[in-house]
Amino acid sequence: MKALVYHGAGKKHWEVKAPPQLIESTDAIVRIIKTTICGTDLHILKGDVPTVDAGRTLGHEGIGIVESVGESVHNIKVGDKVIISCITVCGRCRYCKRQLYSHCEEGGWILGHKIDGTQSEKVRIPHADNSLHRLPEGIDEEAALMLSDILPTGLEIGVINGKVQPGNTLALIGAGPVGLSALLASQFYSPAHIIMIDTDDNRLHVAQQFGADTVINPTHQNVVEVIQKLTDGLGVDVAIECVGIPATFKICQDIITAGGHIANVGVHGKSVELHLEDLWIKNITITTGLVNTSSTPMLLKSLQSGKISPEKLVTHRYSLSEIETAYEVFGNAAKEQALKIVLNAE
Ligand SMILES: [Zn+2]
Ligand SMILES: [Zn+2]
Repeated sequence: MKALVYHGAGKKHWEVKAPPQLIESTDAIVRIIKTTICGTDLHILKGDVPTVDAGRTLGHEGIGIVESVGESVHNIKVGDKVIISCITVCGRCRYCKRQLYSHCEEGGWILGHKIDGTQSEKVRIPHADNSLHRLPEGIDEEAALMLSDILPTGLEIGVINGKVQPGNTLALIGAGPVGLSALLASQFYSPAHIIMIDTDDNRLHVAQQFGADTVINPTHQNVVEVIQKLTDGLGVDVAIECVGIPATFKICQDIITAGGHIANVGVHGKSVELHLEDLWIKNITITTGLVNTSSTPMLLKSLQSGKISPEKLVTHRYSLSEIETAYEVFGNAAKEQALKIVLNAE
């Protein structure tokens, strides 16, 4: 079989690799139908994630068909069509008992990180009973693929951590795939006014189509002034940071109202300034996190009933063997107007 293999910073190759085998009795082998590329994969390729060894197959999102299961797997059967969760869940460690699956002592984010991932024709999934979600008949496969990572991330780490409530004014900073996922998920909670902030006018246009009431481009608008005007000088109830740079975290601090929530979703590569000299008196809450994927079953039901349409995030499609081209396009996302790229196995 073939897989997209990481060979150290800046190097990757679509190449022949031995197919995965069952190792533990709780494993399953899944034949990939669809996978995609995440911003995290680009971070790995830049060399920002030193815990990824050369020789690792990348990718932590996918849907596929179960080909074989170990003898201790009971919920998932050969032939099932499944969503592969980006988080592997043992279900019995100290963190899993607290539903902090992202910190699972035998799992967490290991796919395409510490073990071979989903940008491959086949993948081994440990703790298959808890880490795979059976896909009911009739669900759009591209929509389902968005439930591997970005939609639960936007919901759990953005919207739920940010405690979005009906009537709130919500600002999302960053209209990439995760920011747009948070925008979709926020609408479960009926915020009164949704503001999207991004420097890319095309992405702002998409955000409007996804339900943003106001869009702000900081390259030609003063974000703080616009938001002060919109909120009667108060600021926003919730600010969700979906970029991961000091400038965007500063915007969150500048626009948050007293009693508000700043939910950080972005992956930060360097430290940010925390303006406690302004914020100490404002009764705000700042949250961080890595997705637990505990919301995936709920999101699956919402998909099934047509309440959400995350397939709207898909802008490009390639066959899996064209993955190196797909990486080029995703690496130039603004120029290519790319959000999520679906890779289809032949
Ligand atoms: Zn991801
Ligand atoms: Zn665990």
